[in-house]
Amino acid sequence: MKKNFELIYEGKAKKVFSHDHADKVIIEFKDDATAFNALKKSKFDGKGELNCQISSRIFELLGKNNIPTHFLGIKSEKTIIAQKIRIIPLEIVLRNTAYGSLCRQTTIKPGTPLEKPLIDIYLKNDELNDPLITKDRIELMKILESKDLELIIDLTLKVNKILKIFFENIQLKLVDFKLEFGYNAKNEILLADEISPDNCRLWDLKQKNDTIVSLDKDRFRNDLGGLIEAYGEINKRINDFMNSIK
Ligand code: UDP
Repeated sequence: MKKNFELIYEGKAKKVFSHDHADKVIIEFKDDATAFNALKKSKFDGKGELNCQISSRIFELLGKNNIPTHFLGIKSEKTIIAQKIRIIPLEIVLRNTAYGSLCRQTTIKPGTPLEKPLIDIYLKNDELNDPLITKDRIELMKILESKDLELIIDLTLKVNKILKIFFENIQLKLVDFKLEFGYNAKNEILLADEISPDNCRLWDLKQKNDTIVSLDKDRFRNDLGGLIEAYGEINKRINDFMNSIK
């Protein structure tokens, strides 16, 4: 990164730098991996680059499908240019299949297909361990207006429709994913953050039997090994698919 770009924020998986244009930022994807609110940490050479490429392709696809996003373009192997936003401190999780915390907190069995997508909203707050939050509590905390919350939920459902089909095309099952949104300088709501195997659960549909093969961060969370190989496989399937439809 050149000296004239100032680091304005460093998160667990990304660094945000200033841009010559005040309404833009440069986002660098790091090789670091964290899980369980950063209680578990590691580094995987090449993860930043793979997530940058995967997330960029997905944001391009969503943009083409009229989802407003912060993404403006790829800058280098592991950096993008994005609109500067004020992040809304909510994590919007959409689930198509039961897994992870849904199964730890309810009696629903892992792998159960959900009749309709389930939206779980979490407060983005590390000190509180990102608790599950209700619409009434969001209103109480004045995090955002209810019409904006409705818009975010509507956008999340639209993203799911686009991505479910996209991933099925490349033989991946979109189990669940987490989105973040923010306001730009014009106070428009934009999809922000990243969409990558770090924040999506993707299961390989090329398996002949019913065994679950995770090609996502569960490889790290559950000590399965082969994280870079899994992310590389997703990147390859996306690139092959994009080239085949050119
Ligand atoms: N997720 C995320 N960041 C978080 C928590 C969850 O990106 O801080 C993603 C996770 O990768 C999965 C989905 O949100 O795709 C649902 O995660 P879940 O609530 O099941 O939590 P987990 O089992 O990962 O603790």
